[in-house]
Amino acid sequence: MLKLNNPDLLRNACLVAGEWVRAGSGETIIVTNPANGEIVGEVPSLAADEIEQAVDAAQKAFTTWSRLAAKDRSAALRRWFDLMVAHADDLAALMTAEQGKPLAEARGEALYAASFVEWFAEEGKRIYGDTIPAPTNDKRLIVLKQPIGVCAAITPWNFPAAMITRKAAPALAAGCTMIVKPAEQTPLTALALGVLAIKAGIPAGVFQVVTGKAREIGGVLTGSDVIRKLSFTGSTEVGRILMAQSAPTIKKLSLELGGNAPFIVFDDADLDAAVEGAIASKYRNAGQTCVCSNRLYVQAGVYDAFAEKLAARVAALPVGVGTEAGVLIGPLIDGDAIAKVESHVADAVSKGAKIVTGGKRHALGGTFFEPTVLTGTTQDMKIAREETFGPVAPLFRFETEEEVVAMANDTEFGLAAYFYTENVRRTWRVAEALEYGMVGHNTGLISNEVAPFGGVKQSGLGREGSRYGIEEYIEMKYLCSAIG
Ligand code: ADP
Repeated sequence: MLKLNNPDLLRNACLVAGEWVRAGSGETIIVTNPANGEIVGEVPSLAADEIEQAVDAAQKAFTTWSRLAAKDRSAALRRWFDLMVAHADDLAALMTAEQGKPLAEARGEALYAASFVEWFAEEGKRIYGDTIPAPTNDKRLIVLKQPIGVCAAITPWNFPAAMITRKAAPALAAGCTMIVKPAEQTPLTALALGVLAIKAGIPAGVFQVVTGKAREIGGVLTGSDVIRKLSFTGSTEVGRILMAQSAPTIKKLSLELGGNAPFIVFDDADLDAAVEGAIASKYRNAGQTCVCSNRLYVQAGVYDAFAEKLAARVAALPVGVGTEAGVLIGPLIDGDAIAKVESHVADAVSKGAKIVTGGKRHALGGTFFEPTVLTGTTQDMKIAREETFGPVAPLFRFETEEEVVAMANDTEFGLAAYFYTENVRRTWRVAEALEYGMVGHNTGLISNEVAPFGGVKQSGLGREGSRYGIEEYIEMKYLCSAIG
């Protein structure tokens, strides 16, 4: 049973125009715990006209929110941040209940999510414009920075809190208003963030959370003339659909889509550090992050040693329900997720890969999968081409730097890449040659609020976090003033 210190955070209604609303139809979506199938809560399935009401409220709120002094918006965001930190345990409990990640990891996400709010509360005060020396002396040229307007966010289930704050915080800091549609698997954390937003004094209509049928809500949000910007995190497939749907209204887009991260270990790497990096990068959130390493390339000279060390660590990873002490690997989100992991392992084994540890559904049943290491994997296997999104590390053998860079880049994705080497010249060569938006050198953890997160190629558009993240919610206006 889900127990919260502050039960007020558990909501069964959407946040629209400062009110908690249920669907007129009475329709709901049931939220279940992936660890045991228990019902955690239910949320409304709003109809299109009810989503329109949120759009109207966001438009109305924009006229006042955008005109507040940046310092006042910043103060409200700062209060939101403080409340997220104060309620981190409850946010963690909600995330573990609806998403499955271990409690300590969920608490880490609550603080990580809050860090974006703190950061953008600060950055919002530093949206500087420009003065441009004019080509003739009778004019003055100015660049003004203004909020884009009403924004929408569609977010995934793997980070129920952080994927929301890293969109909403820069939007609100810049003076935009935002409607969030969380994933149907994890709406409760999103609604809890709404409770805290109201407590923080963020005015009605500035931050709204709507739940319901994804396709229908997506249609309303992308079709709206009022909404000027959509920020989406999720699959490349859905990103493409939303991009096409946004074409008629020429909406600005930020897209954080799929990845297929290579993790490269060179002969000259610190092998123990590489093993720890692989554990952090591959097995976090049971392998369900878009920056999780998907393909581990290990140079021939250290291949066997790395495989042995990694397998020993992986075999000892405690699997279980996220609320149990010491658990590091929780369940996968649902039946489709575990079926995909299983199919990737089966395909690899049928083409000659060997299971060193794990390889099958966990004895706990449900959607638990054994942390797995495969050796002898090759580029022709599904696991090399598709995002596995589960706790499976396939080890590919390589001989030369040129060969591994070519293999690493041989994908339509370009989100995150990792490599381990102690050689300074190689570090620069490889970092520059990898066609990825983010590269980790001698580390498996790269995300934080101060760095630009985002991908190239079919992994997306735009960046989140960092001083660049707020630019995504700003338009520049060129003012040419004739004074002669
Ligand atoms: P995942 O595979 O991680 O579930 P999705 O891309 O399917 O990734 O989902 C990410 C988010 O996109 C979720 O909030 C989901 O509800 C939403 N979504 C899925 N399909 C559509 C769609 N056709 N239109 C709008 N949103 C969608």
